[in-house]
Amino acid sequence: MLIITDATRILVDAETELEGDEARRFVVSETVPTSRTAPSTDATPTTAATPATATTAATSTEHLDAAGCVITPGLVNAHHHLLQTAFRTFPGTRGVPMHVWLPTMAAAYAAIGIDPESAGVAARAGVAEGLLSGVTTIADHHLNWPAGASVDDTVAIARSTADAARGLGARLAFVRGSARDDPEQAAASADAIATALLSGAGDGDGVTEDGLLQVAVGPAGVHSDSEATFRLLGEVAAAHGLRRRTQANEQVDVAIALEKYGRRPIALLEEWGWLADDVTVAHLCAVTDDEIALLAERGVTATHAPGCDLPMGWGIAPVAALRAAGITVGLGTSGGGSNDAGHLLADARLALQVAPLVGPPLDARTVLGMATEGSATGLGRAELGHLRPGAAADLCVWDVTGVADAGVADPIAGLLWTNPGRRPRHVVVAGRVVVKDYELVGHDERALAADVAELLAARVR
Ligand SMILES: [Zn+2]
Repeated sequence: MLIITDATRILVDAETELEGDEARRFVVSETVPTSRTAPSTDATPTTAATPATATTAATSTEHLDAAGCVITPGLVNAHHHLLQTAFRTFPGTRGVPMHVWLPTMAAAYAAIGIDPESAGVAARAGVAEGLLSGVTTIADHHLNWPAGASVDDTVAIARSTADAARGLGARLAFVRGSARDDPEQAAASADAIATALLSGAGDGDGVTEDGLLQVAVGPAGVHSDSEATFRLLGEVAAAHGLRRRTQANEQVDVAIALEKYGRRPIALLEEWGWLADDVTVAHLCAVTDDEIALLAERGVTATHAPGCDLPMGWGIAPVAALRAAGITVGLGTSGGGSNDAGHLLADARLALQVAPLVGPPLDARTVLGMATEGSATGLGRAELGHLRPGAAADLCVWDVTGVADAGVADPIAGLLWTNPGRRPRHVVVAGRVVVKDYELVGHDERALAADVAELLAARVR
């Protein structure tokens, strides 16, 4: 059992907060780590967000001090490309158009080679960065595969990425992506990855029994992948119960779709069977009112990624309009090739800052809800992104007693508005403490960073 004491405030979800006596003792029971059930009122609460009545014999009770701290659900990064963690501020990739960015990144990948080792080293650094900044779940949209890779090679790369996250104690949604892959090969690989990584998962919902690993599929977008790829990956998703994820309506995506098909991306996704409630679409910058209405009608969820969209010049997703139409919006950072930081809270702050440029402003609780439950909903994970009874006990403890938070009247709003780049003091995933007093538990972040440097030094010719 884990008992967290003396928090000043607990954000249970975007609508519910506890303070005073209610926040004094937060108990995470031992049954939490394996619980994947959706919140249910008749089940025994596994995350008791109330003054505790310790029920189980205290075999090993761990205490975390949260004096002067705010507790929130763990953040869920709905869109990352972990491989790009090894290529941040890469020469020739900043301030350039997409048709220059893509081949420059591709050459960078080719120079070090994409294999289980490089994927694992980059993923460990990216996942660790996430944990240290409060991200307990990452959706890794893995788009790049070595030329001529066999199905087994791709499974090994996926497994290495999954092992990287598991080794650090984080949750990972591995999205078998595709960018101009042969459709049949992409589908065979996705099928093999789901079979290999989810073996023993009984529910057929694309998530392992312990909830730490999920598999999904995701073509990069209509600008790069054909109808055949969308349809075949959709078939694999249906066969394994996987969620589907893609990217659409970056401005460049709209331009290419118009040029190639004479249609806009959302119309193509509709025609190709990819507008449905198991689909999450990232970016959605250049989106029309009619497209928003159609996405809402189909139950599609969205991922806002301002930390990528702004520097790439793609525009700003009209988040308030998407939400007003009834679309669930999550938050993602995208990868290090476009957004050099995997710091989701920093991008939540950016989302607040840019919102008034494209519509009504957003408030901090709304954006925190996007970065937690909004992202989790897109992954089909009802147990993540909140701290209601039955939740899977992923949480962050944020110290708000430093000068960067001095004078803050509202500590929840302050999490975003003040102290950019803040790190959580403690992070818990599935009831397990994975970051304590700002350090990874059982891992050295500097060693993980050094591994990236070593890999690049050894391989770049
Ligand atoms: Zn992306």
